[in-house]
Amino acid sequence: MSVPFMSLSDSLFPIREEIDKKISQIINETNFIGGEELDLFEQEFAAYCGIKYATGCSNGTDALILALKALGIGPGDKVITVPNTFIATAEAISFIGAEVIFVDIEKDFYTMDPQKLDEYLQKNYDPSIKAVIPVHLFGQMADMPEICKISEKYNLKVIEDSAQAHGAKINGKGPGYYGSIATYSFYPGKNLGAFGDAGAVVTNDPGLHKKIKMLVNHGRWNEKYTHKSIGMNCRMDTLQAAILRIKMRHLEKWTEERITKASVYKNLLKNKSIQLPETRSNCRHVFHLFVIKTEKRDDLIKALTEEGISSGIHYPVPLHLQEAYSFMGHKKNDFPITEQSCNQILSLPFWPEISNNQISDVCRVIS
Ligand SMILES: *Cc1c(COP(=O)(O)O)cnc(C)c1O
Repeated sequence: MSVPFMSLSDSLFPIREEIDKKISQIINETNFIGGEELDLFEQEFAAYCGIKYATGCSNGTDALILALKALGIGPGDKVITVPNTFIATAEAISFIGAEVIFVDIEKDFYTMDPQKLDEYLQKNYDPSIKAVIPVHLFGQMADMPEICKISEKYNLKVIEDSAQAHGAKINGKGPGYYGSIATYSFYPGKNLGAFGDAGAVVTNDPGLHKKIKMLVNHGRWNEKYTHKSIGMNCRMDTLQAAILRIKMRHLEKWTEERITKASVYKNLLKNKSIQLPETRSNCRHVFHLFVIKTEKRDDLIKALTEEGISSGIHYPVPLHLQEAYSFMGHKKNDFPITEQSCNQILSLPFWPEISNNQISDVCRVIS
């Protein structure tokens, strides 16, 4: 009764032929950069997000770099984010030469605590703090209405790291509505995954959109060999755009499956001594991961492993205690909610097609 942590093949198999055909067609046409597939992907993804503009790019990390650059953030500036995220969020800030500031998370939702953000700014505000990057972790958006209220007060830009939140909503609005820019990853294991690395940046602001479009392609706007600014090369491949267009048509169905499977888990686990994932009110949680919390986490991993059931920890070491960020001088207990969560969280096997039997097998081991 072994259960894998996730399966990418279950959702791919039924659409494999359509994708094979499309890849073949692109090889026949030998159009590998830009073109109609990328233009249509950008239009369709923007429409899916309910946001005016989308720009395809190479991955979710570059999407964050593009967003920071488009907002004019760089050396001498400071950007606030959370320590319990994949390192890419902080890395992008460091990579463009700005300074990272961490604030702790909300206990029940694992996302940036607006109150901690406000407290930090009340005590430490300085005009070099330019932006906030909340992370919509595990499929649920951070408390954007509150975070934006505070950010406005201090004149800070908001970039939403939405790598784990395709289709998530608060009050019917998705990433990119509340903040200036939202960034996405299409890493294969994300809710919408490419055949390799890919990402996107979305915004409702036409000025920012133009900057992002130029940055992603050598500072070019329309005409070849005419460069308005110094940019990068972090375009999305035509092949990835074409594959994502096909997969995107199934994303809502897969997301609904994720939500259904999460409630199957919740029903089977409700009397066990573990904390279940909670959904904020008026929020659509898209369950990128199904994450529980328990003091007996390490025993539980052992029991699951003995039954051939895989699980994961997202993430075991908070960023402020990573060697890469040791220069910041943080120590244990600086962000107690994050640290407690790192010690107690467990991601259970989860993907849209996981069967009810597989979920029961997992739940039977959990006491
Ligand atoms: C996956 C992920 C990223 C990075 O995306 P890549 O496409 O792998 O570069 C950034 N932030 C979060 C929260 C992620 O989960």
